[in-house]
Amino acid sequence: MKKIQTQVLVVGGGLSGLRTAIAARQSGSEVIIAAKSHVGRANNTTISNGGFSSSGSKFSKDQYFESTIQSGLGLSQEEMVRVLVNEAECSILELRKMGVDVKPREAGYHVPGISYQKGRGINLPMLDYCEEIGVNVKHQIFVIDLIIEDKTVVGVWGIDLKDAELVIISAPAVILATGGAGNIYSRTDNVPQATGDGYGMALQAGLTLNHMEFVQFYPISVGAINRVRSFLPPVVVEAGKLVNDAGELITEKYNIEKRPYAIRSRDQLSRAIALEERQGNKVLLDLTEATAKDWQHWVDTFGKGIFETKVDLEKRFNISQRPMEILPTTHFFMGGIPCNINGETAIKGLFAAGETASGIHGANRMGGNALSEAVVFGRRAGKAASVYSGRQEMNHLDLVIEEKINKYISLQKGSTNSPEVLQEVREKFQRVMWNDVGVVRTKERLIAAFSELKQLSKVNGSYLSFEDFSTTVKAIENRNAIHTAMAVTGAALARKKNKGAHYRLD
Ligand SMILES: Cc1cc2nc3c(=O)[nH]c(=O)nc-3n(C[C@H](O)[C@H](O)[C@H](O)COP(=O)(O)OP(=O)(O)OC[C@H]3O[C@@H](n4cnc5c(N)ncnc54)[C@H](O)[C@@H]3O)c2cc1C
Repeated sequence: MKKIQTQVLVVGGGLSGLRTAIAARQSGSEVIIAAKSHVGRANNTTISNGGFSSSGSKFSKDQYFESTIQSGLGLSQEEMVRVLVNEAECSILELRKMGVDVKPREAGYHVPGISYQKGRGINLPMLDYCEEIGVNVKHQIFVIDLIIEDKTVVGVWGIDLKDAELVIISAPAVILATGGAGNIYSRTDNVPQATGDGYGMALQAGLTLNHMEFVQFYPISVGAINRVRSFLPPVVVEAGKLVNDAGELITEKYNIEKRPYAIRSRDQLSRAIALEERQGNKVLLDLTEATAKDWQHWVDTFGKGIFETKVDLEKRFNISQRPMEILPTTHFFMGGIPCNINGETAIKGLFAAGETASGIHGANRMGGNALSEAVVFGRRAGKAASVYSGRQEMNHLDLVIEEKINKYISLQKGSTNSPEVLQEVREKFQRVMWNDVGVVRTKERLIAAFSELKQLSKVNGSYLSFEDFSTTVKAIENRNAIHTAMAVTGAALARKKNKGAHYRLD
């Protein structure tokens, strides 16, 4: 087993992880950033649309505060929103020093480029910057669990996938920046790596999660299930019309008024499409009448990336000739690990940042606030973790902890399910979640889903195969995803009244 030590450990290589690592390093700590994929790649930041919300010359701080609070429907933590509003613009502009090309747009900033790739323009320069300032970057470390002693985190253990070796990283301060959990559902626009590992690790460590019933479904996605390029930029809907296969205009039928629809009426539209689906109808996005002038208008407003999207959609779906079917898709988790304005959680030394954390979004997220949250609270969590770590003695992992892990491993060893069974389990819980805990929910189906998930958790079972690490990764991801799914289902059962992204028919 490999043993590594650092002052601050950041788990996660998306925007929140990178920003956190930079802040901790600039505050004088020795920092490791580790991710299960390549740091800076294969995460939701990379495939994001690159839009940041903030106040600015056309959008006052008061307006930004009101919009965020209104989106959260009274469930956002006001203190956190106040911090977001006060610090978003300067935190976004600070990214320029790290090589990110942020440009002003209405009510915020954006990173130019082609849809599905804009986030590369965020992560890759920041990764270079991390390396420049001396952050120790560790690619392909799959973290299995936190190591907790006396209600204090002392490190993590997992697998170094490059060398196929177990690894313990000890650190007085650990920041979870592990992103969301789109893959607990069978339909998502998230990267396949978003399996809720941070939520799962937090639950294993005895933390409770907050507001997990609020899952944001993005209304307009196309193509096969679980395809990253299924996400359509919001503006595309504005250029056409949404109809069901009986020709009814969806926006009229469901009184959807606020535009851009996919930003300001995100829930309503997702619900309308899901309700049509329940009645056996398809919803089509008809762009056949969008003129060159219409497209030019959107290109002028949102940049030439829209034109590239049009070309891409033409190639894939022939959109100038026929309408394309659209469906909602799992997009973002408003809930997560409870923490304060500096990312501190209820476990000493453990911090959370980005989509893994909760507090800002309440019952619903305003578009652009995920990336802004990542930079504002990533910076804060990194600084706070560095200060905290500076006050602690370096906790050379002592024998007791090592023995504890070895015992845990030997108990689990040799009883792994086959990759086929694990894949079957994965497909089953994803289907249960999509069918029963999706956009439209009922008490009866939620209860049935919960018991099916419990059963699947048993089937997934004991999981550690150290002969075949890829099987272990799959089994642990399943464990985390099922536990996250149970947290979502339990919270959805407990919340009887409809609010924000949570909608029950009963
Ligand atoms: C298609 C799409 C478009 C979007 N567009 C926008 C937008 O324009 N504006 C906006 O505000 N929001 C947008 N969002 C949401 C936003 O992109 C995400 O919420 C945000 O990028 C999350 O950043 P993060 O750093 O928290 O997580 P991520 O960027 O997902 O990074 C998570 C990291 O954690 C690592 N990790 C996970 N588990 C483990 C483990 N067990 N061990 C080690 N490492 C682990 C992963 O490898 C990854 O590096 C979009 C989302 C999607 C899917």
